[in-house]
Amino acid sequence: MGKDTGIDWADHTWNPWQGCRKVSAGCANCYMYRDKKRFGQDPATVIRSKPRTFSFPLRLKEPGVVFVCSWSDFFIEDADEWRSDAWEIMRKTPHLTYQLLTKRPENIKERLPEDWPLKNVWLGVTAENQEQADYRIPALQEIPAALRFVSVEPMLERVVIHNHTGLSWVICGGESGYGFRPMEERWAESLLHQCCAMGTLFFMKQMAGKKPIPEHLQCRELPISI
Ligand code: SF4
Repeated sequence: MGKDTGIDWADHTWNPWQGCRKVSAGCANCYMYRDKKRFGQDPATVIRSKPRTFSFPLRLKEPGVVFVCSWSDFFIEDADEWRSDAWEIMRKTPHLTYQLLTKRPENIKERLPEDWPLKNVWLGVTAENQEQADYRIPALQEIPAALRFVSVEPMLERVVIHNHTGLSWVICGGESGYGFRPMEERWAESLLHQCCAMGTLFFMKQMAGKKPIPEHLQCRELPISI
């Protein structure tokens, strides 16, 4: 099965559950809220996906990168009942690399399985502004993981991360879609420079709105997956 996601740094998206509640400034224009409302569904109610969707990775036979929970947060409390089934699927598919990106790092520790860290699971947090970077990155650093990453998206201000160690990969992106908030080019430049200084891989996803990525920011590094 080839690439089936619009996410630039993954081959597949897997949504074992859907629905979420907004937790910080980065959530203001959450596309899941917009899409669910369009379908007449309540975005704040978290539901387990149908069995075929829940078991989707079991049908992927080739190695690939799977972004988990683009329509929820993997560590949201409402999914506690279902998470062990999701871990089991990750264990059964060691040829796939899973990316777990959360805005709830305070929930991670007590929700990890006994055999953590799983070799094929990367752990990341969103740091859309300095306040969240200062809170979520230290919380992430406390947890062992095959790889730790940070997504500065939507980037809402200049974010300083260079005082944090143990980060392998940083994603940077401005907001897109209706009502997008602006991102200044120099904020992204600063993040790229910080990553160069730290020896951290950097992936420039997009500028805000439809603005093209300037040439000097065209850097799309990816960690090596399984
Ligand atoms: S955590 Fe993610 S899925 Fe949940 S409301 Fe915020 S942006 Fe949307």
